[in-house]
Amino acid sequence: MKYLIFVTALLFLCFSSINIKAQNIQVDPLLMQDLEVFKINEPLQLWLNFLKSKDDKKGAHYWNSKEVKKYSDTTYFQLKDLDYFEDGKIIKTLNQGTTVLSITKKDTLYKITSMLRFKVDDSVSTTPFIFHVYASIEKESGLLKLYNPFPINQKLMTQEKSFENIRYVFPKYHEFNKSLAKEQARKIAFVEKEFNLKLNYPTFIFTNNRSELYRLLGYDFNFQDIGDEKPFGHAFVQYNYVYACGNGEYFPHELIHLLINPNWPKAHTWFIEGVATYFGESRGKSLDWHLKNFKKYYLAHPMEDYSDLLSKRNIDDISGYQYVIGGLFVKLAYEKGGAESVKRLMTFGDSDTEFYLALETVLGIKKEGINQFFREYFNK
Ligand SMILES: [Zn+2]
Repeated sequence: MKYLIFVTALLFLCFSSINIKAQNIQVDPLLMQDLEVFKINEPLQLWLNFLKSKDDKKGAHYWNSKEVKKYSDTTYFQLKDLDYFEDGKIIKTLNQGTTVLSITKKDTLYKITSMLRFKVDDSVSTTPFIFHVYASIEKESGLLKLYNPFPINQKLMTQEKSFENIRYVFPKYHEFNKSLAKEQARKIAFVEKEFNLKLNYPTFIFTNNRSELYRLLGYDFNFQDIGDEKPFGHAFVQYNYVYACGNGEYFPHELIHLLINPNWPKAHTWFIEGVATYFGESRGKSLDWHLKNFKKYYLAHPMEDYSDLLSKRNIDDISGYQYVIGGLFVKLAYEKGGAESVKRLMTFGDSDTEFYLALETVLGIKKEGINQFFREYFNK
């Protein structure tokens, strides 16, 4: 036993010469002991060099050139949610307190797992994420480079299938449900016809639950993985793909974003989300379901003031105002003048003023008349 401790202490002394002086970037001492034994010094140094780089552009040097080229030298690191403070300074965020926990190797692939942790005050610190990236030899340069976890995890954990002009990517163990995919294709075909648009063979990635999606994205722990499982999704319009979890092959909401967003880039979010919800549901529930949910809330809170509508966020943990009330406005526009009226809503700009101008022009609802409109609509 004594011998072991001695060896450990010696190893620690030897390898603490690795430069980890950058503030708040640490390597777990247990990992430091084993660097030489397991030959993981090189990937560790690569990751530390990246973490210590002052800005995204300098950091790009440590990443594989394919991803840097695809995503640009400021947005190549795809775990954007690490932007915890929402200030866009991703590397700076990692500098707040990243501890490298482990490096494993399988075939030619190093998996580097780290914990983001930072102080809230002197006595409290928080750990919003434990996440991983990969390192591997880049063919073109012959050098060890960093890789985003999402594409590699897709290769390791998922299978794919083309169905009705959509490329589905889903867990290896999952049996593809054709009837759900057919229902989705039917909804999309309807929106395509109504708005005279066409999807361009998008990728639809789905998992069966939230933890599985986070793992696929590169999170071993994510603070948002909390509470009841509710379906959710996200659209990446620029890259023509969406991901969703908890609703299987069926999540038309996000695919509708791929159709609508690029054609009305300046439209107000409430109308964009309204269109996606009216034609493609939200979080696995139809607009009618959400409207009933809101009506219950509305009747239970008779004194609530809606005149500053756009400042409202969530009704509860499944219904958000921009989806439900945005959806209601889209529904009214569609019932009034079909897709042309909905398009008109989206031709106004994204400011608050433009939102109310669109409401008044297309639906005749004035900003100062919102409370009365709600009274009439939800009291009947
Ligand atoms: Zn949406």
